[in-house]
Amino acid sequence: MIKHLKSAADLDAATATLILDTAGEMAALAGREVKKLPTLRGRTVVNLFYEDSTRTRISFEAAAKRLSADVINFSAKGSSVSKGESLKDTALTLQAMGADAVVIRHPASGAPHRLASWVDGSVINAGDGTHEHPTQALLDAYTMRSRLGKIEGLKVAIVGDVLHSRVARSNVLLLTTLGAHVTVVGPPTLIPLDVAAALAPGIKVTYDLDSVLADSDVVMMLRVQTERMQDSYFPSAREYSRRYGLDAPRMRKLPEHAIVMHPGPMNRGMEIAPEVADSSRSTIVEQVANGVSARMAVLYLLLGGKA
Ligand code: ASP
Repeated sequence: MIKHLKSAADLDAATATLILDTAGEMAALAGREVKKLPTLRGRTVVNLFYEDSTRTRISFEAAAKRLSADVINFSAKGSSVSKGESLKDTALTLQAMGADAVVIRHPASGAPHRLASWVDGSVINAGDGTHEHPTQALLDAYTMRSRLGKIEGLKVAIVGDVLHSRVARSNVLLLTTLGAHVTVVGPPTLIPLDVAAALAPGIKVTYDLDSVLADSDVVMMLRVQTERMQDSYFPSAREYSRRYGLDAPRMRKLPEHAIVMHPGPMNRGMEIAPEVADSSRSTIVEQVANGVSARMAVLYLLLGGKA
């Protein structure tokens, strides 16, 4: 088993499948009255969050607690980081406290790689800048597999702000490793050709959402990340929504079995219409629930558990 999970590219098909299978075992626990396993008793998991998060932070905390680990939640606000302490000094503090795993979210792409060179424990990337978010890709793959029965051969359209999306990058890497066919869709300004080419060999690019809907098993909508935009990438929110928003008429073009995903947080009414987000095709709430199982599997396996 790998020691760190910094990128979805760290996972070959066998390792990714083992994590998804283990997540299935973990999900079975959620239906029990006592949801805890003693597996990580005595181990310490630190959640090191330098960027805002709702789902991911709570999800990692729930996952570590269900495995009986001691959990330390560190957020940059209110810590010595606001006094200018560097990531390295914070890392050395965690090292001195004996962290067995550090879950890090950071605005700088590559921060988990640096951290892994300073601490002895496992490092898990919970989102670094516009780079990667591998556990999101795992929970998304788990959701696809549980809804559609497989990943290999699925046609997955990833739609929207690909340029700024670590979710897109990790999903492209993991899904292609697992044999899905990925098409990225969005305005040309948000999918520059070099970005698309660098994502993974063989992925398709289109700027026309309507052309892919009838042939997609999965449509994954991405949040428009205005907080990361220094330029204007499209004329107006209304224009973006008209061309790239998933509304009810577009949803009707999907095959009967197709599902709609979104990692959250959503801009309702922009990339996704409320009636789509709340429809029975939407897996958005399921993705959140599956996130806990997927992260339990990652913590369990990285910290030495067996399948
Ligand atoms: N929650 C995801 C992330 O942290 C997606 C998003 O923010 O749009 O990358």
